[in-house]
Amino acid sequence: MKDAQGRSLSPDESDTSDERKGLLAEEGEDDLDSVLHQTPNRRRRRCCSVVLIALILGAVFGLPMLYVGLKTSRPVADFDNQKLRSNGTHQFKKTALIVSIDGLRADYLDRGLTPHLLAISKKGLRAKSMRPVFPTLTFPNHWALMTGLYAESHGIVANNFWDPQSRSEFHYNRVESCWNSSWWFGEPMWETAENAGLLTANLMWPGPPVTSRGVESTYFVPWKDKVPLKEKHDQIMEWIDLPLEKRPQLIMAYEPSLDQAGHLAGPKSDLVDRVLKQVDVFAKDIHDSLEARNLTDIIDVVFVSDHGMTDTSHPEFIYIDDVLGDGFDELEHVDGWPAMGLRFSPKADSAHYLNILSEAAAASGGKFDVFTHETMPTRFHFSGNSRIAPIYIVPRIGYVVTDHVENGTGLNKGSHGYDNAQASMHAMFVAHGPFSSVVKAIQQSDESRLFKRLLSRPNKGWHSTSNDTYVMDTFQNVEVYNLMVKLLGIEDYAASTNGTAGFWDKFF
Ligand SMILES: [Zn+2]
Repeated sequence: MKDAQGRSLSPDESDTSDERKGLLAEEGEDDLDSVLHQTPNRRRRRCCSVVLIALILGAVFGLPMLYVGLKTSRPVADFDNQKLRSNGTHQFKKTALIVSIDGLRADYLDRGLTPHLLAISKKGLRAKSMRPVFPTLTFPNHWALMTGLYAESHGIVANNFWDPQSRSEFHYNRVESCWNSSWWFGEPMWETAENAGLLTANLMWPGPPVTSRGVESTYFVPWKDKVPLKEKHDQIMEWIDLPLEKRPQLIMAYEPSLDQAGHLAGPKSDLVDRVLKQVDVFAKDIHDSLEARNLTDIIDVVFVSDHGMTDTSHPEFIYIDDVLGDGFDELEHVDGWPAMGLRFSPKADSAHYLNILSEAAAASGGKFDVFTHETMPTRFHFSGNSRIAPIYIVPRIGYVVTDHVENGTGLNKGSHGYDNAQASMHAMFVAHGPFSSVVKAIQQSDESRLFKRLLSRPNKGWHSTSNDTYVMDTFQNVEVYNLMVKLLGIEDYAASTNGTAGFWDKFF
């Protein structure tokens, strides 16, 4: 149909077309000739009109029908949760593994130091980058990945912050707050999976061991620093090698060494390059071990990170005590880093100090911004929670808010926590497994070829790509929860999230 349409505009070609003869047999052929030769005949003109209408209808309906036809030949993603799949020796249920490499900035993959992550993504897929939630810090983002919620919704609004309701402070490295489930709102994917009757395993993923509803993962390995990557790899494989009835279907694992290197030496350092190679080998080892078990078509693996990293080896300090003058002594609580949430004492004239701060921000020529819940950019999704301090100072990249007492102590050569629109704050997303194979096959099918010219956007400035690599556009990390529950076939149990409804459907 399509060829006939195209060739009807070209008499020479249409005359030699076998397909045209087949499609426009006998009277149809005469009619087409009349169109082509403009025969001035009333009867023929009527016929011409019929053919023209047919051609127009063909153009209108033919393409979508072709599209539907191709759609039906698409590879089909199988999310059946109960079905048993064999790797040749053992039975497996749908299984998904999510691994977080803390602080793996999206464009680290451009450094030529991660051949294995790129090879995995070449077999599967990756995104140009993944946009973290604001603030671009470890705890808010690991909980966003787990729950699909922005910080204002999941309650972990910084790595440390004051809660006026409970009149207590959350601190990420204190067990009394970190493991106290009342701080952590939302439903992590492991709670959803447990509710659906699946076994789950948590290897150090930041968050509480038990949710406020009393649900815990089946297997839990608590946070410990400096655990060798091999030990983590072996633990993951130990879970995968359990007998069917004991084997977890959702495995979450966390690795912090790259983030630590980034803070210590900065994102452009040799140390980051060295650790980057190590985590790349860690990814390879996981992939190789799954391949050795013939599981790459059974287990979905998703490698993510929580945020990026920017160089803060030579920052310009913004001294908040200089800006506030006497008002500095009126501060009761100061949250966050490198952004700063301010709570003045109830006796203080906080409107006055807000005014001073706003004027200073305006005069700074774009070094920092001052926001209240009312003026916070909506794209931050960072206002609807009393845990968010009423006044927030957000420095731009290259600037750090401090005071003369602190004087930047504790400042590292690398930092994050800045505006989540900044590319240097963006995280990684690489996936491999049955899900990514289907997505990739569909995206590279005839259907995509049909519309490729219309839809294609070059990946310039991002990872070098070859034709067999599928690179998703940047997306926000609150979509990941919905991906994982989809992969596990437990969407019926899914909690409400800030993710986009049907976001993943468009890839299948
Ligand atoms: Zn982090």
